[in-house]
Amino acid sequence: MGLAELTEISRFYGSASGYVIAGGGNTSFKDQETLYIKGSGTSLAAIEAGGFVRMDRKKLALIWEKQYGDNADEREQAVLADLMAARSPGEENKRPSVETLLHDLLPFAYVVHTHPSLVNGLCCSKDGEAKASELFGGEAVWIPSCNPGYVLSSLVKTALGAYRSRTGKNAAIILLQNHGVFAGADSTDDIKAVYGRIMGALEKYIKERPDFSNKAEEYGNSREIAEQLARLADKGSVAVFERNNGFARLVEDASSFYPVSSALTPDHIVYSGSDPLFINAEDLSPAPRLEALWKGHLEKTGRAPKIAAVQGLGVFGIGDSEKTARLALSLFADTATVSVYARPFGGALFMDRDKIDFINNWEVEQYRAKVGNAI
Ligand SMILES: [Zn+2]
Repeated sequence: MGLAELTEISRFYGSASGYVIAGGGNTSFKDQETLYIKGSGTSLAAIEAGGFVRMDRKKLALIWEKQYGDNADEREQAVLADLMAARSPGEENKRPSVETLLHDLLPFAYVVHTHPSLVNGLCCSKDGEAKASELFGGEAVWIPSCNPGYVLSSLVKTALGAYRSRTGKNAAIILLQNHGVFAGADSTDDIKAVYGRIMGALEKYIKERPDFSNKAEEYGNSREIAEQLARLADKGSVAVFERNNGFARLVEDASSFYPVSSALTPDHIVYSGSDPLFINAEDLSPAPRLEALWKGHLEKTGRAPKIAAVQGLGVFGIGDSEKTARLALSLFADTATVSVYARPFGGALFMDRDKIDFINNWEVEQYRAKVGNAI
């Protein structure tokens, strides 16, 4: 029991299809004194024992005794500084996951946090809360959409306390609206059993799966449009194209695009942006028309889109390298997947604008986007 098992289970979920996207999610192991938490910017699938940050749990507990101001930026900066100060000696060059406090709160040896598309079909749906209580009421806690970091950890702390006093037990499952799931257990076998129950319950509801077959990386005048989009974006940007059956249906018109037209979770915002640009076929040319559309989007949202969808054609990921452009496309594909899985639960529910803005402006998230790997 310990770091070796933690490494093994992290790799297991990091490489299991449908659990994590872009290396995302995070895991931990704890004993009385120490928490080993995944470092920010490392990928679960390939993590080594050295990829975990050793944290002093006494120092983490002290964070709950402090008062932080109401100003969100100042509070998150102060909490981050306290989190950094809770690293054990010798760990100074590592950065613990932003979800460290939440991991520490769960009274289980192992905690595995992931963003599975199937679970997010429930967590990012209109009827999610009611369905979650019907499906997992006895063992799960539902946390309404909120800003990540300290606010999320505080909400979970309160909810776990309430669950404990109501049931006399510790909740093994935390479902985070518009985010993902935390599962806790005292052995890695039990973690797998918890995830097995979650996935088993949700699979029964799924009548439809996304169809990404017939993939093409070039179609019609996609190459020419990719060049145009790369020129409109920041200097040195790259645009990559994809069309498949699912994308083709989404780009039929603005209304078919609607279910993927905003953000479902923080991870989607970090890698594929909160505001994809939908381009009607008639706006493609002449070039100044597309340019005006792009500028209007920039003015409205304050940032360049990482996803541009062209009516009747397909979807472009845009980034400062081919890697980030492809990452944007794969997160967009996950948005499309989650929106299909949300159908049995009343359809996809986007994040609120104020929470989207918080992620767009959060220093921690900018760090993740820069590093190019999810937490
Ligand atoms: Zn997360």
